[in-house]
Amino acid sequence: MLTIIREIKSWMADIRNNAIEPGSDQPAFDEPLVGFASGADPLFEFLKEDIGPEFYWTPVEALQNAFPSIEVEPEEVSVIAWVLPQTENTRTAHRAATEMPSIEWSMARHYGETVNENLRRFVVDWFLSSLTEACAPVLLPDWSRAVSEKYGYASRWSERHAAYVCGLGTFGLSDGLITPAGKAVRVGSVVVRRECEPTPREYAKHNEWCLFHAGLKCRACMKRCPAGAITEEGHDKVKCKNYIRNFTAVYVEKEQLGFRVNSCGLCQTKVPCEFRNPMSLLEK
Ligand code: SF4
Ligand code: SF4
Repeated sequence: MLTIIREIKSWMADIRNNAIEPGSDQPAFDEPLVGFASGADPLFEFLKEDIGPEFYWTPVEALQNAFPSIEVEPEEVSVIAWVLPQTENTRTAHRAATEMPSIEWSMARHYGETVNENLRRFVVDWFLSSLTEACAPVLLPDWSRAVSEKYGYASRWSERHAAYVCGLGTFGLSDGLITPAGKAVRVGSVVVRRECEPTPREYAKHNEWCLFHAGLKCRACMKRCPAGAITEEGHDKVKCKNYIRNFTAVYVEKEQLGFRVNSCGLCQTKVPCEFRNPMSLLEK
């Protein structure tokens, strides 16, 4: 699978694919991290049961949604996930923001998500061109948001959870994925009908790389959140969503881009897990 890693990195290295806004010579993201998991990894079944057995997709179910006539075993399927780290320029600008997002963050949230969407399409097409079934679950017409009895707002396929299974990081107090490149990232994923060597998960627990969950006193993301949406109990998705919908999205329209963008992410910068796994610092 080294070839697809190379393809992804080279696609992202082309500024025409990875600009922070159309025509810009500034990249939206730094070099991606890529991870793999088998469709037979028991964590996928666990996620389905835990998040919502009636709506959450396993990798095989996502692929069969895209290709209803195929019969495929979980072992024949792999998930490829990637992490797109925010650039230092975006992170530096965002660190100075306190209640409203920086314009750099808003652009990375809006145009950067288009980059991510195009990357999903590029990877899917790359596999399809060699007659290998592939899909990006979040781009399927049947992908939708849902409400999990246990977790509230959810969806049929979570890319952060896919990245977690693919060895790319663990969750923090604020619900963000702390990756080797930190938490100021965007995440993407595809499912392919190909066996790929899984990426080793260098963690045993879902929140192992968060300093708070490691028993230390870090509450930096709590303090950064202007909405009070992060507490020691975790992330309040309703408070977070309401703050974004009622304040930051309106601000982006009026003061920054001229249209609404669900931009905030203050909890992702000026924190010890912003651009690295903070546990690696402690180990040093
Ligand atoms: S800022 Fe601290 S408490 Fe919050 S997710 Fe990062 S390491 Fe965990
Ligand atoms: S995205 Fe914004 S509102 Fe939501 S938890 Fe992070 S800082 Fe708070």
